[in-house]
Amino acid sequence: MSKSYDVIVIGSGPAGYVAAIRCAQLGLSTACVERWTNKNGKQSLGGTCLNVGCIPSKALLDSSEQYHKLTHDFKKHGIEVDGARVDVPKMIGRKQKIVDQLTGGIGMLFKANKIESIHGHGKLLVGNKVEVSHPDSGEVIETLEAKNVILANGSIPIELPFLPFDNDRIVDSAGALEFTEVPEKLAIIGAGVIGLELGSVWRRLGAEVVILEAMDTFLAAADQHAAKEAAKQFKRQGLDIRLGTKVTGAENTGDKVNVNYEDANGAQTLEADRLIVAVGRKPYTEGLLSEECGVQLDERGFIQIGDEWRTDAANVFAVGDTVKGPMLAHKGSEEGVAVAEIIAGKHGHVNFDTIPWVIYTDPEIAWVGKTEHELAEAGIPFNSGQFPFAATGRAKAMESTAGFVKIIAHADTDRILGVHMVGPHVSELIAEAVVAMEYAASAEDLARTVHAHPTLSEAVHEAALAVDKRAIHKAN
Ligand code: FAD
Ligand code: NAD
Repeated sequence: MSKSYDVIVIGSGPAGYVAAIRCAQLGLSTACVERWTNKNGKQSLGGTCLNVGCIPSKALLDSSEQYHKLTHDFKKHGIEVDGARVDVPKMIGRKQKIVDQLTGGIGMLFKANKIESIHGHGKLLVGNKVEVSHPDSGEVIETLEAKNVILANGSIPIELPFLPFDNDRIVDSAGALEFTEVPEKLAIIGAGVIGLELGSVWRRLGAEVVILEAMDTFLAAADQHAAKEAAKQFKRQGLDIRLGTKVTGAENTGDKVNVNYEDANGAQTLEADRLIVAVGRKPYTEGLLSEECGVQLDERGFIQIGDEWRTDAANVFAVGDTVKGPMLAHKGSEEGVAVAEIIAGKHGHVNFDTIPWVIYTDPEIAWVGKTEHELAEAGIPFNSGQFPFAATGRAKAMESTAGFVKIIAHADTDRILGVHMVGPHVSELIAEAVVAMEYAASAEDLARTVHAHPTLSEAVHEAALAVDKRAIHKAN
């Protein structure tokens, strides 16, 4: 007889593992099927985010930032250092240790919550059955069944049809986390989140970095003042971002890669040591759905869902990168919690208006809610207040004064509709804005909240005051 559960989760990324834990907390017998195999041939939990995404990229961003500070910024503090050098294999080793600790930690959480972790490729059959096969050979191991199935199969990098990855000189984001030395010249296709973060890592470590971006607008989804400020700082750091370029192909010549593209001046060739292709991600649904299972994909290949993340098959739900919405770890996790609660008969909910975005460059870029451009297009009247970090004592003390906080509030009600930040530690500061918006705060609420001095959060306070033109530490 096949093993039977209340819930089977396919995928153990931030959407799947969080869903599984919440299901178990709610008393549901739960199994999680995960196909990921690490270099040691063992199952690794945590999905893209923990293995080759959020965590390893932030580990390398931090290491490279330390090196850059040591070689560029310490002097300003009166600290002279000679002979600093980078040990790339050691840096990559540290990153891997963090990945191993965190992925192992999920295994422990699964044990503590009595979640059965199954290593294999899951395929949804008709009637909530899940066939598990060997992730490489495809040999069928067993068939499980459940009252409910949560598909949390995640996403993979988009490969350009005319420019396949060769995992040597032409790599995706995972390959870019494994370089064994700093490339002298690094080309990147796509000035999106991954292009900017990984471009920053290798630039800080000494590579000459050229980023080719198809769009004419830099970071079109972000507040355009923030995008301009960030672009100015990136240029200062030596990131060469070329907008309005159309990449046509690339050849690996053995010791180099030649990237062909067109811009306003015609056809160009860029010679580099490595090429990272970071042009977005797509849902990973290969071998996931049997023909009869009833789950449908939309026209873009995402799993189609209706209310409560329900797919077109009864009691089959889908969450995370494989469904519509931003491809962010925290979005997937919150969907996982909501679906677990719905399955348990509760009222799971996610507020899509307050999902924060963060780009972990220097300066960091973070936002939540609407941009001025979106509000103007929708005809919604607003006031905005902005405050520069250069006018805060803490940012001055840190020698990190680039950027600002901008708060946008409804012109009639003063309710906060969007908050945009570029500057030091805004990845942390954005949480205050998210909480404020979740509680439907007005700019006045933040303006009347006491903020510790001297902190970077004073820029949030002053931006809230500036909405009403009464910031203290700048002319209004
Ligand atoms: P995934 O994390 O992709 O997990 C899906 C899992 O399902 C995988 O482990 C996969 O092996 C497994 N799976 C798929 N199909 C099957 C099957 N049929 N059977 C068994 N198992 C299966 N987001 C942020 O919010 N912050 C960041 O800082 C950030 N940085 C990133 C940096 C990089 C370089 C990359 C690539 C991504 C980053 N992201 C970041 C995005 C983030 O990683 C994803 O949004 C997140 O991992 C999505 O979670 P998920 O659970 O939906 O899918
Ligand atoms: P992205 O959508 O952020 O950026 C892709 C960029 O590539 C876009 O600017 C696009 O215009 C450009 N592009 C597309 N086709 C191109 C072409 N042929 N030539 C030149 N440019 C082209 O995607 P990404 O950077 O690959 O990241 C994927 C997703 O992973 C992100 O959308 C995000 O959801 C997630 N992620 C999040 C974080 C974070 O939260 N800090 C970090 C990394 C990744």
